[in-house]
Amino acid sequence: MFEMLSFIEAKREGRETAPDTVKAFVKACNEGTVPDYQIAAWLMAVFFNGLSSKELEAFTLALAHSGKTVRFPEGMLPVDKHSTGGVGDKTTLVVVPLAAACGAKVAKLSGKGLGFTGGTVDKLSAIPGMRTELSMQEFVDQVTETGCAISGHSPELAPAEAGFYSLRDVTATVPSIPLIASSIVSKKIAGGSRRFVFDVKCGAGAFMQTQEAALKLADRLVDLSGNLGCNAVALLSNMEHPLGRWVGNAGEVNEAIQVLNGKGPEDTSRLCVEIAGAMLFAAGVADSQDVGRERAASALVEGKGLEKFRQMIEQQGGNLDEDVLAGKKALPLGKKVREIKAKSTGWVTSCHAGKVGEALRVAGGGRLSKEEALDLTAAVEILKKTGDQVQDGDLLAKVYASRDKEADAAARKVKAAFTIGEKRERLKLVWGIRDSRGFRQTV
Ligand code: URA
Repeated sequence: MFEMLSFIEAKREGRETAPDTVKAFVKACNEGTVPDYQIAAWLMAVFFNGLSSKELEAFTLALAHSGKTVRFPEGMLPVDKHSTGGVGDKTTLVVVPLAAACGAKVAKLSGKGLGFTGGTVDKLSAIPGMRTELSMQEFVDQVTETGCAISGHSPELAPAEAGFYSLRDVTATVPSIPLIASSIVSKKIAGGSRRFVFDVKCGAGAFMQTQEAALKLADRLVDLSGNLGCNAVALLSNMEHPLGRWVGNAGEVNEAIQVLNGKGPEDTSRLCVEIAGAMLFAAGVADSQDVGRERAASALVEGKGLEKFRQMIEQQGGNLDEDVLAGKKALPLGKKVREIKAKSTGWVTSCHAGKVGEALRVAGGGRLSKEEALDLTAAVEILKKTGDQVQDGDLLAKVYASRDKEADAAARKVKAAFTIGEKRERLKLVWGIRDSRGFRQTV
């Protein structure tokens, strides 16, 4: 018989509880028989005392199986990719079709973005006609036939996780490494994938602000996945400044198409190849990260990623004309444009990702609650990045919004995001990789 008070006491005292007890706890929470105040007390105890590997595995599996689960045909082990969230992170739009073009089956489930910028589903909504809420059967059929699909995360999958998350949100227990790891991995398992790549972002625009915290999360994600029979690779990537040149939903789709045409910004293109390479390695399509990276890079150059992107968009009802797909024409952006110019000569020493993300939200491109509508045409275009040389009066960035008030407010925030100094700063894009063999720093 499950007894809630002694369950909380055990965690408060830092004692380990049996996997079956953890499972019974999640079941009771999912059935609504445990009051929120007791769940909240347990969450806070976990925040301070953590979860053992066995507890974490039991908790994650119980969350994953708390609702419906997506099932792929026997023997198929699709790969999913998860980013812990960043500013200008449009990599999913590129790596899903790119990895599929190299032979992986890619089943990508995404949530709506909260905070700074839109999520992948919001970005895809900028494509006319695009369906981002596939039924489970449509999702499975498309991954099986086309090789990839991107869909919104159905509330029927891992419903207990959503319940825990909403309590964490109001009890200051979101930043707990085991709770984050279980939240992410349970949703992936419920979504039917069995191979994972985690892009753990680190820096001013990320959830994890220090390398130490990012590595702790990467360790937990990879070990938890491995213990549950799911091969996983984590990349630790930089989020001090925004990724690429565009921040904002339609703007990021435009940039993703540029990357698929081989004309994207260097940092976005390089990160996409690295992530797609890791997906091929995790999926067993490539024997190593190096082989995966080479295959992804060749497929990008040969236009195979773009072709798969076109197929995926068409299958999901999206309607992009040939000029947009060729990168010759862009999806429309807000008509109220503001320019941000340098006030001195030197080097850009920082373009604070968090502040740029905040600027996009003010321009209408991000939301604080799930109910808020987004202006998909709002964008920030970054014209000078950290490490670039600038002259007094050079254009640093542009803001695009639908109304003057939002454009002005966003421009003020973008201006505050830039620092110009006398010394050139160089930031590493990917500073490490963590897989089942351990962590290694990238050169
Ligand atoms: N992202 C998730 O999916 N879950 C968390 O708990 C935190 C970030």
